[in-house]
Amino acid sequence: MITLTLKPGREGPVRAGHPWIFSRAIDRVEGQATAGGLARVLAADRNLLGIGYHNAQCSIAVRMLTTTDTLINAEFLDQRLGAAYALRRALVPPATTAYRLINGEGDFLPGFIADVYDRFVVCQCLTAGMELLKPLLAERLAALLSPQGIYEKSEGNVRREEGLPNAAGVLWGDEPPPMVEIQENGCQFLVDPQGGQKTGFFLDQRDNRALARTLAAEQDVLNGFSYTGGFGIFAAKGGARSVLSIDSSATALELAQRNWARNALPLEYSSFLQADMFSYLRDAPQQFGLIILDPPPFVRRRQDQHAGLKGYKEINLQALRKLPPGGHLLTFSCSQHVSVAEFTQTVLFAAADARKRVQLLGHLGPASDHPVNLVHSEGSYLKGLWLRMGD
Ligand code: SAH
Repeated sequence: MITLTLKPGREGPVRAGHPWIFSRAIDRVEGQATAGGLARVLAADRNLLGIGYHNAQCSIAVRMLTTTDTLINAEFLDQRLGAAYALRRALVPPATTAYRLINGEGDFLPGFIADVYDRFVVCQCLTAGMELLKPLLAERLAALLSPQGIYEKSEGNVRREEGLPNAAGVLWGDEPPPMVEIQENGCQFLVDPQGGQKTGFFLDQRDNRALARTLAAEQDVLNGFSYTGGFGIFAAKGGARSVLSIDSSATALELAQRNWARNALPLEYSSFLQADMFSYLRDAPQQFGLIILDPPPFVRRRQDQHAGLKGYKEINLQALRKLPPGGHLLTFSCSQHVSVAEFTQTVLFAAADARKRVQLLGHLGPASDHPVNLVHSEGSYLKGLWLRMGD
């Protein structure tokens, strides 16, 4: 294990439990560094801050695993995985067989994501450090859950920065079938871990989909950026008069239709449209009593912030114009680089431009199986507003 010593005055966030150490905070490296290898981290006064893993080629050079002198072995992983599982057993609602078991930094396993889809686990190792721990993680997950299979689908910007190619394949047990059947709050969904987006399903929106069910009675509902139909199916279960699901992906919409049918919802009051939401909303002929806007992140890098915020403003402006008095809008941003305050202000500007009086009924966020380490605000990405058009 190598030893890293921080520059004077840089130990504060680590002592407070922040898991990231940037390369510019490191003063000295002792030992032969390998990408993802373990490191003992010392403050400038040589006091131990904890153990992390290190990758010299990243700006986030270290992600901390512990703040004590602990061996990183099976027992350590069993403790972390076991604690996360116990929390999920307490949090995940009934009639729900899909949940996030490990939310990276939020479960004190930085760079590792594990989603449970019924009898399968789908994971993402985002960093070189987690790549090295992967075989042990798979073994300990298998021991904890006895799943039918553990599948890896690791991709994205973080991996690229870590110098890792995308990786997909079976880590343990059986390969998941093309469609895994899951339940969420009593609704049925097919999830495609291999071909779908992320690990296959946007588990973070569970509570907000449940909220949509309570707002939909007798309404015409627009499920914007619908992916595989989640919000629309809950709206239909809540008694919607009609549901229009719009996505740019034909594959997602095809699965949305299959999901609709699986929930025994009559086809005549649903429609599925492959379209760009921006163009659709600009020309939409009708009003909707409930609109959901759950777009992909418009701001993927900090330098895209200006353009991204313009996108959020435009889409919310158009949606507010389609909302009658008393209508509800659930609007989201999953951009890590857009804060709650920035998002709220952007939507407020949209309401001002639309010359609408809008009520804020609540701030929305991810379901509680997506915990965030309180000192690691970078881990909070999904934010949403529950708005109502004034009468
Ligand atoms: N609300 C969904 C998740 C949405 S993910 C759920 O609960 O499961 C975002 C979706 O937006 C993706 O399916 C993506 O295909 C779609 N998308 C991206 N850009 C789009 C655009 N310009 N117009 C319509 N859909 C778009």
